[in-house]
Amino acid sequence: MHSFDYAAPTSLGEALTLLAGARGNARVLAGGTDLIVNMRVGRRKPGLVVDGKRIPELNELSLTADGLTLGAAVSCRRAYEHAEVAKRYPALVDSMSLIGSVHIQGRATVGGNLCNAAPSGDAIPTLIALGAVARVLGPNGTREVPVEEFCVAPGKTCLADDELLVSVFIPAPTANSGAHYLRFIPRNEMDIAIAGAGVSVVLDAAKQNFVSARIALASVGPTPIFAREAGALLAGKPVNEDNIQLAADSAQTVAKPITDMRGTIEQRKHLVKVLTARALRGAIERAKGA
Ligand SMILES: Cc1cc2nc3c(=O)[nH]c(=O)nc-3n(C[C@H](O)[C@H](O)[C@H](O)COP(=O)(O)OP(=O)(O)OC[C@H]3O[C@@H](n4cnc5c(N)ncnc54)[C@H](O)[C@@H]3O)c2cc1C
Repeated sequence: MHSFDYAAPTSLGEALTLLAGARGNARVLAGGTDLIVNMRVGRRKPGLVVDGKRIPELNELSLTADGLTLGAAVSCRRAYEHAEVAKRYPALVDSMSLIGSVHIQGRATVGGNLCNAAPSGDAIPTLIALGAVARVLGPNGTREVPVEEFCVAPGKTCLADDELLVSVFIPAPTANSGAHYLRFIPRNEMDIAIAGAGVSVVLDAAKQNFVSARIALASVGPTPIFAREAGALLAGKPVNEDNIQLAADSAQTVAKPITDMRGTIEQRKHLVKVLTARALRGAIERAKGA
């Protein structure tokens, strides 16, 4: 591995000064399960690594009536072992408990998953489906970015060189809502999604009709994809298999996968439809049980 400087600031101000001083030659370190791997193979060569784990705001895990604030350095394991997080956000647990193994989950963060901006990032479709926003800090203050706008290309986010992700905020689930994330990998675990689907639904009080839905996809485009139309067309429609298939068909049309060593275009297109339908059924079940 190349040689680099390491800093472990204890405040956001200190971190911003370090990032500004590095002029684009720094990377923030969370769990390191992507960054260190990428540095080892020479894919990333930062001159400075800024460890975020000693910054209090990046370690925040707080639940209010409005929603969940998940600091960018909170490990997946810490989050999914939080009883109230698990109860209120089962789809987030679907994603966090799929990332790597329990060992990886003890280090890996949802913030790192998002900032790594891999099309296959398992937490990202769920965040999009749940309407999460990224809280970003830079020299000009804080800005909030809807997660569906955060990843702009493979491995690239909307963050400027002198900005960092402080936390993601996930709104509180509304009444009669449910969400679910599913992915397909060729092995039972420790693999990257060939395709994934994260969905959330809100049903009416009788739980007979969709009020709204959000659908997002992994591994079928250069970034995670928000299948906005696929979710929107369910609004006001009865909860039935025909409408589930309608949404799954729509999600399939926005998927723009490639063929690579893990899967073909045809396989991924097929999987998107199957996974979207299954994730919708899972989300509906959760909404009915809510
Ligand atoms: C064996 C193994 C299995 C894996 N399996 C999966 C899997 O099944 N699904 C999956 O989605 N991923 C998987 N991954 C990838 C990785 O574990 C996840 O993407 C993880 O969530 C990354 O989080 P992290 O905290 O380790 O991020 P890091 O490696 O610390 O950071 C990732 C990127 O985000 C940047 N970054 C981190 N924090 C911030 C911040 N606050 N502000 C700005 N930039 C920041 C870093 O500079 C880096 O570029 C696996 C990795 C390994 C090694």
